[in-house]
Amino acid sequence: MSARPPYCGRFAPSPSGPLHFGSLVAALGSWLAARAACGTWLVRMEDIDTPRNAPGAADAILRQLESFGLEWDAAVQWQSRRVDAYAAALAQLRAGGRVFGCACTRREIADSQLAADGTPRYPGTCRDGIAAGRAPRAWRLRVDPGTVCFDDRLQGRLYQDVAAEVGDFVLLRADGIYAYQLACVVDDAASGVTEVVRGADLLDSTPRQIVLARALGVAEPAYLHLPVVLDDSGAKLSKQTLAAPVGRDVAAELAAALNFLGHAPPPALHAAAPAEVLAWARANWKPARLPRTRGLRLECPPSAN
Ligand code: GLU
Repeated sequence: MSARPPYCGRFAPSPSGPLHFGSLVAALGSWLAARAACGTWLVRMEDIDTPRNAPGAADAILRQLESFGLEWDAAVQWQSRRVDAYAAALAQLRAGGRVFGCACTRREIADSQLAADGTPRYPGTCRDGIAAGRAPRAWRLRVDPGTVCFDDRLQGRLYQDVAAEVGDFVLLRADGIYAYQLACVVDDAASGVTEVVRGADLLDSTPRQIVLARALGVAEPAYLHLPVVLDDSGAKLSKQTLAAPVGRDVAAELAAALNFLGHAPPPALHAAAPAEVLAWARANWKPARLPRTRGLRLECPPSAN
């Protein structure tokens, strides 16, 4: 009988800007899940999409995590330094006949029907070969028909027919950058991540990542997708909407993030240092207390002074 591998979780921010309240919630949720399981917690900087990296953001994120007491257990992993691993995974898939070159432009694909996440579904134009006179721009995974089913530890059982709803998806983009889906699966597997705890905005990616893990023959992690933080208008807080960076009032922001996750600290801890609040949260962490929804408005915003 093989023993279950020890719990390993991770936080994988894209350094397109500093952490805002929404990304703090994701970091805190994954840290607590790992600590409550006496597991390890890793930080992976998803800086592979170089045009989207903001100068200084990676460093700012690490300093913010430190200021909240969210310590990580191994050297930070940088996706920009792992291109060889992604190339090897692509070569493995190609050797297995799972990859094809695609000559379609964004505009050509935009005319096809939309996938669940609002992006255009790839209609399969180049899967049986590229039209004469055209050259491959991107490289895609040939996705077999069939439903992917997984049990999210918070959101419950979810299904997607990736072939029908997304289509053959990109592994290596036309600009020469490895796609998030491939880099994420390769890195989670290489790090031995056993549970992915992240925001529910990434739920759409999970079936694709499961398809890829199976195609690569690597272990599939468990998933727990936390509700994303919505602003007053019901939109997700994001760097694009210029959500304010956290760190102005660490104690208030930490308490608000715990409250958002259904773990409001007791009044006795209101003036406590972050380390003490985290120790309480770790000892009292109960996934059953997490709000079982994909998005939630912030009812108790951290004080803004
Ligand atoms: N880098 C992604 C983001 O910041 C998260 C990826 C993940 O957790 O799988 O949205």
